[in-house]
Amino acid sequence: MTRSETLGGRISHFAYTRSASNGCRSDMAPPTRLPYDVARVRIVFAAAEVAPYAKVGGLADVAGSLPQALAALGHDVAVYMPLHGSIDRAKFGIPDGGATRSVPYGRSTIKVSYPSLVRDRVRTIFVRNDQRIGRAKVYGAPDDAKRYAAFARAVAEDLAQARVRPDIVHAHDWHSALLVAMVAGPYRRKLGGAATVFTIHNLAYQGHSKADILDLAGLPKRRLKVEAAGQLNPMARAIAAADIVSTVSERYAEEILTPEFGAGLHALLGERKADLWGIVNGIDTDVFDPATDRHIPARYSAADPRGKVNDKAALQKELGLAINARTPLFGVIGRLVEQKGIDILTPVAPEILRTGAQIAVLGTGEPAYEAIWKELAAKHPGTLSLTLGFDAALAQRIYAGADMFLMPSRFEPCGLGQLISFRYGTVPVVRSVGGLADTVRDADADPRRGTGFSFGDYTSDALLDAVRRGLHAYRDEPRWAALVERVMKLDHSWAASARRYVEMYEAARVARRAA
Ligand code: ADP
Repeated sequence: MTRSETLGGRISHFAYTRSASNGCRSDMAPPTRLPYDVARVRIVFAAAEVAPYAKVGGLADVAGSLPQALAALGHDVAVYMPLHGSIDRAKFGIPDGGATRSVPYGRSTIKVSYPSLVRDRVRTIFVRNDQRIGRAKVYGAPDDAKRYAAFARAVAEDLAQARVRPDIVHAHDWHSALLVAMVAGPYRRKLGGAATVFTIHNLAYQGHSKADILDLAGLPKRRLKVEAAGQLNPMARAIAAADIVSTVSERYAEEILTPEFGAGLHALLGERKADLWGIVNGIDTDVFDPATDRHIPARYSAADPRGKVNDKAALQKELGLAINARTPLFGVIGRLVEQKGIDILTPVAPEILRTGAQIAVLGTGEPAYEAIWKELAAKHPGTLSLTLGFDAALAQRIYAGADMFLMPSRFEPCGLGQLISFRYGTVPVVRSVGGLADTVRDADADPRRGTGFSFGDYTSDALLDAVRRGLHAYRDEPRWAALVERVMKLDHSWAASARRYVEMYEAARVARRAA
C-alpha cells in the first residue's frame, strides 16, 4: 500500500512525495507551479512561541520562519503570540501601545492590548495582559491552561472585531488549540468563512486540564469521547474541530495513527485521516548559515569548508575540551528528556568517549538526567562538556564546530537539529523515526546519496552501532569530506514546504465551503 493510499483521502496531499519513496525531501523535485491558481490568502497564525521573540524549541523556529516564507509567496500573514515576560521588548522595539479590547472571559472580561510590529512583511501581534496571560516563562506556570485559554479568546475576539476577515486561522499545538474550537464554534458567524488548520508539532503535549476552562473560553461543555468526565483535552478538541489537521513530517503523520505514537488520540486522528496532512519543516536558512553566521568565529560554505576546522578548535577551547582537529566531536543540543532518547544515550556515553571521541551537550531537561550528566561530565574532563541552559549562540557554535550530531529520539515529529546540522556540515546520527526517518538517509545503506547514520531499534546497542559506523566513516577522510559537502548542499529551506502549506490552505478552504 502506498503512503497516499494509507493516508490520502479526497485530497492527494502526498502527491509530491510519493515518488521519493525514501522520504528524503532534498531529492524531490519541488513543484515548479502550483496545481491550480492560488489567490492571495490572508492567514493568521497563533502560537505560544515565535522566534526570535521567544523560543523554547522547534515550534518557535516554525512559527518564526514559515510565515515569512508564506509572505514571500505573496500571502498576507499575521502571527499572534502572548507577550511573555521573558520577551525583550526594548531589543525588538515592541511598542507599549496598540489597540485595546475588552475580552469576555468566563462571566467577566479582561483588558487585552495588542501591540504589534512588522518584520520581513509579517506582522506579529503580541497579546498582552500581564495578569492573566503574561508569565516569565513560555511554559510551566501552574495556570498554563487558563492563560492559554485567555490567549486563544483574546485572539478570537481581535479577529472578530477586525475589519478584515482572515481566510485561514492556523493554530499550533495545544496552547492555541482552543482558538480552533472557538472559530469552529461560537465565533463561526462573526468570522464568516474562515477555515481552520491545526498543526501538531508534538502530540505528547495535549494540555490536559479541567473542563471548567471551557466556561472561561466560552465553549460548549459537550465532552469528546477521549475526555474523561470533568476533563478537557484542548489538543483533541482542535483535532476534532479543524477543517484540516496537519503535522510536521509525513512519517509522523502515519505514526500518530498507531497506538504506539498516537498518545491516546490515534482513534480520533483516524477519524480525521482524510484531512490529515504531513508537511516536513524547513529551517530559516538566513539564520542558520555558516557563510554569514555572526555567532561562529570562522565562516565557511560547501564550496569552501576550510573554516569549519577553526570553529571546531574554537569550540573545543571554549568548552574545555582537548584541542585536536582529528578527534571526532559529537554535538547534542536539545531537551534532556526521554523523547530525545536521553535514556538510551546516557548508558553508552562512556563507551562513546572510550572510542576517543568527544561529546558536547547543550540542553536542559529532567532533573534526574541533568544530575547524571553532571556526574558524567565531572568524570570525563576534557572529553565531555555539559552546558545546562538555553543558549542560541552556543547552539550555533556547536552545530558549526561538531563533526556529528546525535539525535537518538524515541519519537520525533520532525526534528530541526538534524536539518540545522546539515546546513553546518555536521553529519547526523539519528534514530530512524518520524521526521528523522524522512530527512536522514543512512550513508552505509546508500553510500552515494547517504546523509547520516541511522538505526531502528530503540536501544543503546543500536545507537552505539550507528555511532561506530559514523566514526568509521569519519576516519576515511575523502569519504568524510564528500559526505560533509553533500549534506551542506541539501536544501531544507522553507521554499518547497511553504508551497505545500499553501496547497493545504486551499484544501482547508474547499473543506470549509463544502461544510
Ligand atoms: P523540540 O522537540 O524541542 O521542538 P526540535 O528539534 O524540533 O525539538 O527543535 C529544537 C530547536 O531548539 C532547535 O532549533 C534547537 O537547536 C533548539 N534548542 C534546543 N535546545 C536548545 C538549547 N538548550 N539551547 C539552544 N537551542 C536549543
